[in-house]
Amino acid sequence: MHNKTITELAKDLREGKFSSVELTQSYLDRIKKHSELNCFITVAEDFAIESAKMADIKLANGDASPLTGIPIAQKDIFCTQGTKTSCGSKMLDNFISPYNATVVEKFNHSGAVMLGKLNMDEFAMGSSNETSFYGAVQNPWDTSTVPGGSSGGSASAVAAHLTAAATGTDTGGSIRQPAAFCGITGLKPTYGRVSRYGMIAFASSLDQAGPMTRSAEDAATLLQTMSGFDPKDSTSMNKPVPDYSMGLNNSLEGLKIGLPKEFFSEGLNDSVARVIETAVDEYRKMGAEIKEVSLPHMKLSIPVYYVIAPAECSANLSRFDGVRFGYRCDEPKDLNDLYIRSRGEAFGDEVKRRILMGTYALSAGYYDAYYIKAQKARRLISEDFKQAFSEVDVLMGPVSPSTAFGLGEKTGDPIEMYLADIYTIAVNLAGLPAISIPAGFVNEKPVGLQIISNYFTEPHLLNVAHKYQQTTNWHQQTPKGFE
Ligand code: GLN
Repeated sequence: MHNKTITELAKDLREGKFSSVELTQSYLDRIKKHSELNCFITVAEDFAIESAKMADIKLANGDASPLTGIPIAQKDIFCTQGTKTSCGSKMLDNFISPYNATVVEKFNHSGAVMLGKLNMDEFAMGSSNETSFYGAVQNPWDTSTVPGGSSGGSASAVAAHLTAAATGTDTGGSIRQPAAFCGITGLKPTYGRVSRYGMIAFASSLDQAGPMTRSAEDAATLLQTMSGFDPKDSTSMNKPVPDYSMGLNNSLEGLKIGLPKEFFSEGLNDSVARVIETAVDEYRKMGAEIKEVSLPHMKLSIPVYYVIAPAECSANLSRFDGVRFGYRCDEPKDLNDLYIRSRGEAFGDEVKRRILMGTYALSAGYYDAYYIKAQKARRLISEDFKQAFSEVDVLMGPVSPSTAFGLGEKTGDPIEMYLADIYTIAVNLAGLPAISIPAGFVNEKPVGLQIISNYFTEPHLLNVAHKYQQTTNWHQQTPKGFE
């Protein structure tokens, strides 16, 4: 039963082929069996079985929603009342939130069953899940490689069928890149589409939550539950939520696809490029027109991101001081010692690096030179996309320049690690929606195709992704040993 999509599972639950308790237990057994992947920080066994029992009652009464009784798992960045929320950090190793994130509330309300909390890079800073306090996560396609990050636990768990679906968050690519590395579907919605309330903040102007699933159809189901205005999040958009599943099968005849030439320049692995070209050909066969476009300022996206994201994180993470939140050092001598040692002992190296960079960029005298300058360049990057979307409907390209790299391969060189996000970051800076879908393999490692569309056009984005999944079966492949 763990091989099925949410759509299939929902049908089987309704037909009584198995109960939600049975389904949940089978996932809990798989999580135990494959614990070496290290996908979960917390497995919420009792909570899951209790929720499944309640879901079975709803199913029996016929008042179930599409997610009722479906086991899912939450990235450990979402606050969950009563279950630990660590954000991958020693700082929050003992943190139990007194409230639920809006996303978690919405899933609970829909009757979905939460299996537990998924491993991630510390405070979502990373591209390989190796900055987690709880250790690295393995990629089920090749356990000597990383699953990507920061939503590495989510991607690995979905790929290895340890959960029917998962949530992720994407500040600079953290849904799309791990989805690509693990051969699953990952959608980063438009900024403001999904509430950030109760989602521990990294870089508030970039962070956005989204679904990580086995198909675009499942992503539509999850997004339906996650989306919507939230008065508790001042950046949430008060815009009606469309039906994400309705237009999935719309024809793509005449679809205008733009290929940004900057996505195909040096740096992109040749074999990955060929996989992307073959995927684009598939769209050509479906009646799409292909055109080259340009995003001339895309090359600025990494330097701009590494000013803005650290600046925002340095402000957001100042609350973890050993007093208001988080870990407190033993026997502090005085208040200053308490601050210094609590933060020094509980934050990992990457988080400290970001706080230092951000504090520097925001300090008097440097603010104009770095932060204001970066904001101006950010505007230029958004304008490039605006221009591109005046010519085409969607943009396509790779998610990452390579397939999953080896565990430990890039940990010694932060700049090398940062460069792996070259194709994803500009989308966050502009606040646009984008999806990664499985498009093939290079040396038996999955490759993701990235599709980017205009603001709040997720229904169209999902339609474009779903049609591809109707004519290809890359998304249905399962890593060996995880069938
Ligand atoms: N890899 C990027 C970073 O390290 C993006 C992380 C994310 O999207 N959360 O910041």
